[in-house]
Amino acid sequence: MPNLRDTTRAPDTAWQDDVRAGVRHVRDLASLPLSPAEREAAQAAASLHKVRAPKSYLDLIDWNDPADPIRAQVIPSPGELEEAEGELGDPIADHEFSPVPRLTHRHADRVLLFPTYQCAVYCRFCFRKESLTSIGRGYTREALEPALAYIADHPEIREVILTGGDPLSLPDKALAEIRARVETIAHVRLLRIHTRVPVALPSRITPGLVAALQGRLMVTVVTHFNHAREITDATEAACRTLRQAGFVLLNQSVLLKGVNDTVEALEELCRELMYRLGIKPYYLHHGDLARGMAHRRTTIEHGQALVEALRARLSGICNPVYVLDLPEGGGKVPLAPCPIEGRDGESWRIRGLDGTVRDYREILGVREERPSKNPAAGS
Ligand SMILES: *Cc1c(COP(=O)(O)O)cnc(C)c1O
Ligand code: SF4
Repeated sequence: MPNLRDTTRAPDTAWQDDVRAGVRHVRDLASLPLSPAEREAAQAAASLHKVRAPKSYLDLIDWNDPADPIRAQVIPSPGELEEAEGELGDPIADHEFSPVPRLTHRHADRVLLFPTYQCAVYCRFCFRKESLTSIGRGYTREALEPALAYIADHPEIREVILTGGDPLSLPDKALAEIRARVETIAHVRLLRIHTRVPVALPSRITPGLVAALQGRLMVTVVTHFNHAREITDATEAACRTLRQAGFVLLNQSVLLKGVNDTVEALEELCRELMYRLGIKPYYLHHGDLARGMAHRRTTIEHGQALVEALRARLSGICNPVYVLDLPEGGGKVPLAPCPIEGRDGESWRIRGLDGTVRDYREILGVREERPSKNPAAGS
């Protein structure tokens, strides 16, 4: 049911106009006030990674600012054409861990399912850009059959993560079909959706879309906001719709040089995500080794300094976990600076948020819990 009190809600087809009036092909960039360097890069960069952005997202760009954080995310830049040694086509080894088409299984209890390789917006820094460009496949029911059969055959899978591509770029009917199929598999508990649609095309979050996702399963929507400027009345309305549907909202951001690599930018982003949108900041991803992205990567040391500062400034629920998704399928490992300075038996030396190192001695109630070879346990 539409929220009848919300008179600001756009009609449920408004998103189509937003897509139509946006950039859909590289040739549409001709209508934008690009710099000569961007214009020159656009054609070449577009052959490596598609170009697309809805009008409402483009409208957030301040065209007088060459370093605008929204512009940096969607307008091709000359830096993309420079491939650095060691960069990878498949930075987190999605393909290596793919037992059947359109599925990646790296952690026992959860799988990635790729219903489509298309997106509502193409982010220049996307780590899957080569899959999106080289595969370019959309959704068909048949294409997902092997992946669904695999999930049914693996009772250890509790969580199905729809990713891509952007699952919310699909029509309601396709989403309802996928949700219904997944929910017939009794051992699956949770449906997770990784999407940039609430950020880049918030008008797409309609009552019909919400209804398509509601059923037996707990639903978690993981959004992808990278800058506080992406948080608008429209994204607020979209997130309210998702929250009122009972979905759990989390956000993952990518740490991007020139976009959000300052304490102030991240602090405002994380605070507004939680306090205005009701989205818990989940991950802050260190830049992976996607090709042509050296110009957007920061050092790990810089990222660590940023999250240490955030930890001191923001409430616990506003803090994301800073992670690196390791190549070769090593998984997401936390990178925050380690506060443990040393240890002697059950005595630990731990640095506090104020920078002072303090001793903490473990005191356990049950003597037997301490292995007897440890003399400090007392006997
Ligand atoms: C990131 C990822 C997940 C989800 O990991 P969480 O830490 O649960 O968010 C699952 N499978 C693969 C292959 C991934 O890369
Ligand atoms: S929406 Fe996600 S999958 Fe699509 S281009 Fe952006 S980061 Fe990549």
